[in-house]
Amino acid sequence: MIIVMRDRASLKEISKVLKEIKNLGFRAHPIKGGEKTIIGIIGNGRTVPPEYFEAFPGVEKVVRILKPFKLASKEFKKEKSLIKINGISIGGKEIIVMAGPCSVESRSQILETAHAVKEAGAKILRGGAFKPRTSPYSFQGLKEKGLELLYEAKQETGLAIITEVMAPEHVKIVGEVADILQIGTRNMQNYALLEAVGKYDKPVLLKRGMMSTVEELLMAAEYILSNGNYRVILCERGIRTFEKYTRNTLDLTAVPLINQLSHLPVCIDPSHGTGKRNLVIPASKAAVAIGADALLVEVHPCPEKALSDGAQSLTFNEFKKLMDEIKSIARAINREI
Ligand code: PEP
Ligand code: MN
Repeated sequence: MIIVMRDRASLKEISKVLKEIKNLGFRAHPIKGGEKTIIGIIGNGRTVPPEYFEAFPGVEKVVRILKPFKLASKEFKKEKSLIKINGISIGGKEIIVMAGPCSVESRSQILETAHAVKEAGAKILRGGAFKPRTSPYSFQGLKEKGLELLYEAKQETGLAIITEVMAPEHVKIVGEVADILQIGTRNMQNYALLEAVGKYDKPVLLKRGMMSTVEELLMAAEYILSNGNYRVILCERGIRTFEKYTRNTLDLTAVPLINQLSHLPVCIDPSHGTGKRNLVIPASKAAVAIGADALLVEVHPCPEKALSDGAQSLTFNEFKKLMDEIKSIARAINREI
């Protein structure tokens, strides 16, 4: 349910409503817009009749949200959310490119890549320290050492950092280095992890489960939002289908669909979405054209030697080409890179 306050509702009237929500045992999610304050009420299965709050001074109307996701829904908030990260905004006119290796492998690998992607125009450095691998025998990431190297790359280049967090008990150590916490496809429905990042004060990039629907993705986002963290970016990274030429099927229509259902910014991962280096640039161009707010791209100094995801990683030159090609598409739809 959403309580829409009148344009000139006083602070006293707003706090009276907030207090009553708390007294009734609900959680209030106030949003101060340009003109109005709106307050979301989330209950645990219990409801209050809308008329109850309509009688409060300063209240314009009370609206029920019909979708199963509430705080993530467009009904709750019409304008696209702008997620601010160290002077960068995701969800605005500028399309933000996050790039770097699948895994942090060594000091020289991450530093070299950080400089190369920065030079080409990326704003955020990606790199996995804790790696969720299908096989327990595959490289599992450098873990804490990987975080230290990411920190060094951040100090040296000024790039913001995105890296994956796999367990609730790691949120704090990963959060000390990361500017964005990445939740991987395999953990989209790890509710303990979603609650942990929901209680932590850092933006979250939530990847769509490889076998999940868009509605399930939005419900997973709802776990983070309802725990108080509103800085969520949704990421389409491909889903499982019968197609075998690609690693996953990149569901590009998820972008306009999510833009119609939700106010949260949307990112496309063309690397996992295709699994093939020669498809990453075409998929990135399509992602920009269809309205993505950000891209997450794997780049490696020497993809043949990568310890994970080499087949889908771009060389530095290929990444430069990607940046050049998506710029003209962004201009054509009145956006910037
Ligand atoms: C990654 O970004 O390297 C990764 C593991 O992604 P996903 O969770 O989408 O497989
Ligand atoms: Mn990867």
